[in-house]
Amino acid sequence: MLKRLQDKIAVVTGAGQGIGAAIAKRLASEGAKLVLVDINEECLANISGELDTEVLCVGADISKKSQVFAMIEQAKDTFGTVDILVNNAGIIRDGFLAKLSEDDWDKVLEVNLKGPFLCCQAVFDTMKAQNSGKIVNIVSRSWLGNIGQTNYSASKGGLVSLTRTLALELARFQINVNAVAPGLIETPMTRSMPTEARERLLRMQPTGKMGSVDDIAAAVAFLSSHDATFINGQILHVDGGKSCGLLSL
Ligand code: NAD
Repeated sequence: MLKRLQDKIAVVTGAGQGIGAAIAKRLASEGAKLVLVDINEECLANISGELDTEVLCVGADISKKSQVFAMIEQAKDTFGTVDILVNNAGIIRDGFLAKLSEDDWDKVLEVNLKGPFLCCQAVFDTMKAQNSGKIVNIVSRSWLGNIGQTNYSASKGGLVSLTRTLALELARFQINVNAVAPGLIETPMTRSMPTEARERLLRMQPTGKMGSVDDIAAAVAFLSSHDATFINGQILHVDGGKSCGLLSL
């Protein structure tokens, strides 16, 4: 395994399961020390036990400013700095327009868009002071538009715009801001979808199968490393080609 992240300090949100847990494992295997963040603190204990590195587990809701800033302070108290921020935590609350409640809209935007904004703001001073940093935002192929996901697509589209704007704003401090856009990935989130919805999505998938969490983790590790130093403001689609267009058979 490559060791591109030796002794780097990486914060991974939503690390308790699914893609976030895979990202944590991959960054650890490349030498990073980890701050694992999740609203569900219990699941962090399982993940941290599997990692062969120094780990700090923090239970925090990324949509709450006070919790985010306290979490970053805890990270700095423990490890001295933050080199890498992976904004992975996200939720879905799907529904067609007429049935989408205001609460479903607000909650998805709060976690998927406001959360990453707060995390970026909380690490900024530290990364600026050390004149280096890598921020990787997990968006979704759905940012291009997806039926029944007005709230989710809007949140991820917003996160794409946040990524591109912060890439411009923070480049002078040698902070790279990029995004990974997963396609259909086998995780608890997708396993919770109704069978019919899962099958419809698989029919539209060029590869005919879902990707794995490790596919996403590999892309995040690359964008977090010195190999990606001149890559900034990019959206890396890891989706088996689905973002290229419609599949007609
Ligand atoms: P998941 O539901 O399996 O895991 C998400 C984790 O985030 C959970 O551990 C959850 O407790 C945590 N979380 C939720 N709200 C939080 C909050 N407010 N504060 C802190 N932690 C919180 O999801 P996943 O499938 O692993 O998805 C991870 C990311 O990848 C999300 O941003 C999602 O939108 C994106 N994504 C997933 C897929 C997919 O196919 N699974 C596709 C595209 C994009």
